[in-house]
Order: sequence, then C-alpha cells, then structure tokens
Amino acid sequence: MRKIKYLIFASAICGIVICCSLACQATEIPLIKVARTNGLQMLSANSFGTRGIAFAFKDNSRVFTFKEVLMPLGFPVTRRYGRYYIDSSDYKYHIQPLLPTTKHRHKKLRIIALDAGHGGEDGGTTAQWDKLQEKFLTMDMCLRLAKLLEKNGYRVILTRSQDKKVPLPERTQIANRSKADLFISIHFNSAPSASASGIETFTLTPSTQASSYQASSRNAHRNFIGNAFDCLNIVIGYCLQSSLTKKTSAIDRGVKHSTFVVLRDLKCPGILVECGFLSNREECKKIASSAYRDILAQSIFDGIVKFNDLLSD
Ligand SMILES: [Zn+2]
Repeated sequence: MRKIKYLIFASAICGIVICCSLACQATEIPLIKVARTNGLQMLSANSFGTRGIAFAFKDNSRVFTFKEVLMPLGFPVTRRYGRYYIDSSDYKYHIQPLLPTTKHRHKKLRIIALDAGHGGEDGGTTAQWDKLQEKFLTMDMCLRLAKLLEKNGYRVILTRSQDKKVPLPERTQIANRSKADLFISIHFNSAPSASASGIETFTLTPSTQASSYQASSRNAHRNFIGNAFDCLNIVIGYCLQSSLTKKTSAIDRGVKHSTFVVLRDLKCPGILVECGFLSNREECKKIASSAYRDILAQSIFDGIVKFNDLLSD
C-alpha cells in the first residue's frame, strides 16, 4: 500500500498520473505535457498544435481529430480539474506517429500489394438497386489504382486478378512472399440503415488496445499483440482517409481499428479501406460511375504518395 502511494506521488511530480487501481498498470499523460514536450501550443484546454495542425480531443471520447480527420483512440480521454489526459499507449500509437517532428525510419515504398476484397462465391455486399456486386467493384478499383501506381514507377502485386475466392491468410501471404512494402485492401460497405454513408479506413488494432467497435477495457486486451507496424499503420490510415474524404467530399467516418485477419500477419504496414456504402442509394449511384471510381483511385494513390514522402530510409 505504501508503495502505491509512493508511485502516485512520484508520478504526479513528473506530470504523469498513474491509475490507482492495483490491476491497472497504464499511465495517463496530460495534454499540456504532450504539447510542451513536442514544442506545440495549447490551442484550448482540449486541443494543441500549430496553425493548420491541430489535435483536438473530447472528454470521455475514444476519437480525436487531427487536421480535421477523425482518428481513433484505444481509451477514452479523461478530464480532471479542467485538465485533459490521454492514455500513454494512445500517445505512443496515435499521437506521436502524427507529430510533424516525428521521423519515420522505414524504407521507401517500391512494391505495393493491392487486395481486391471478396471474389468467386464470396460476392461481398450487393447494391439492392442495380445488383452491383462488391467483388467486381473492388477488382475494378484495384486495376485503376494499379495503373496509376505502375505509371509512377511502383511495382504492384495483386492478391487476386480473377473472380475467385482467395482465403484471407493467403492474401497476407501473397503480400509477404512478394516482399510488399505496403498492403491496401479495398472494400465497399453496407449497413442495415439506408442512411449510413461515407468512407472509413481500418488499421490493425494496436497492441493491448481495443478495436473501435469493442468496449474499451484495459485488462481485456492485454494479450492482443498488434503487429510490428502499429505506429506506421496509423500514419498510412491517416494519409488515405484524409485524401479520400477531402477529394470525394464523402462523410468522414474516421480511421478505425479492427483485428481483421487479413491485416494481422503482414510484414509491412497495411490498411483496409471501405470506399463507401452500396446500401446508400446516393452513394451507390456515385460508386456506380466510372468517373467517381477514378476519383477514389486517384485519392488512394495520392494518400500512398503522401505516406511515402513521410518515410526516410
Ligand atoms: Zn467487403
């Protein structure tokens, strides 16, 4: 008991609050300390940054905005006595990788693996109105994107080039065997509510954190190991989501976390992007047009280039 009191006292001095529960080893960091340590200004009690680069948080929320793009957190932001705190793992996986001063030491991209979601007897989702099948749209998107990438000197690997079912672990293995530097899985969305629309990008849930649709509990996720690219995954997630939502004007549903099998064992950064809802009549109409799919492919390409620009060998 004395030891715990000592820990709380010591940590209060260095500005880090240690959770009092015996079961909980996690730490929380005040936003003001995050800002100061990184030479950034507090813009309000719950946001920091510089002009045009703002990180903004909400009390008790597991999302924040970075340059106006919705980003995930593993644990809710807390507020005590007018100060806002984030979990130390959120600082590591979600804030630090996006700081303008962070250097991403990773080899520049040469080989990109494109994964057209579904295929064969697995058609994915189908639009009710014109029977558009997701498996054909994802293939179409990958071919458009491959053309752009190859024209710009990248080598492209397709995890499938025909209308056939490829098991999820095999898709990962194709990327790994090809020594891909980046993995992009392309999908289209659907929801029971016809009003749901917009674009969302999934990264693998980082080590010890909860997925976006899971309740967040510090102890429940201790055994989830993420992968070696937990920090870079969030950067490519941001680059793609930012580019896609700005260029298409689609609703920003945010970067999210999930333990998708296809992302787990990758030996390179990877994301899965849901390019819009086939269950939403308006959005489906757009997706059905070849011109809109060109915009989607160009936006993903621009996001990849932006990510590559952030890497230094
Ligand atoms: Zn899908």
